[in-house]
Amino acid sequence: MMYRTGIGYDVHQFAENRPLILGGVEIEHSHGLAGHSDADVLSHAIADSLLGAMGLPDIGHYFPPTDDSIEGISSLKILEKCRELADERGAVIQNVDSSMIAEAPKVLPHAEAMKEKIAAALGVTTGQIGIKATTNETMGFVGRHEGIAALASAMIYVPD
Ligand SMILES: [Zn+2]
Repeated sequence: MMYRTGIGYDVHQFAENRPLILGGVEIEHSHGLAGHSDADVLSHAIADSLLGAMGLPDIGHYFPPTDDSIEGISSLKILEKCRELADERGAVIQNVDSSMIAEAPKVLPHAEAMKEKIAAALGVTTGQIGIKATTNETMGFVGRHEGIAALASAMIYVPD
C-alpha cells in the first residue's frame, strides 16, 4: 500500500459584479473573484493538491482557460473530476486540509457549509476536510484587499 501527498496553491483577484464563491458556497461581499470558472480559489487549490498527490498535471490541463464550454462552471465540478480521476486509479482520498488567506470577508463562519459541499463533490465525509483561514496582517496583495489566496494539501491511498 502506498500513501501519497500533494500540495495546491491558487490566487484570484477581486472583481466587481461577481459573486464570491468559496468552497462552493456563495458569500456576501462587496466583490467576487475574477476567473474563467466561478473563480472558487479554495476548490482550485484543493483540486491541485489532489491532482498533485496522484502525480497528474494541474487543473489548467483538465480545465484550460481557453475552453469556452467551461466558462462560469461551478468549481465543484472540478472537484468531481478529481474524484473521477481518483476512482479510475483505485485511489482513495484520505484527507484534505486547506487555508484561505484573505483580509475580508470573514470566511470561517461558512466553513461547515463549505466542508459539506467539498466533501459531497469528493465523495468523502466532512471530517476528512480541513478548512482554515487567516489574514495576511495587512501586508502584500492580500493585505491590500486585491484578492484571496488559498493553500491545500491532500493525502491519498493508492493500491499497488
Ligand atoms: Zn483558480
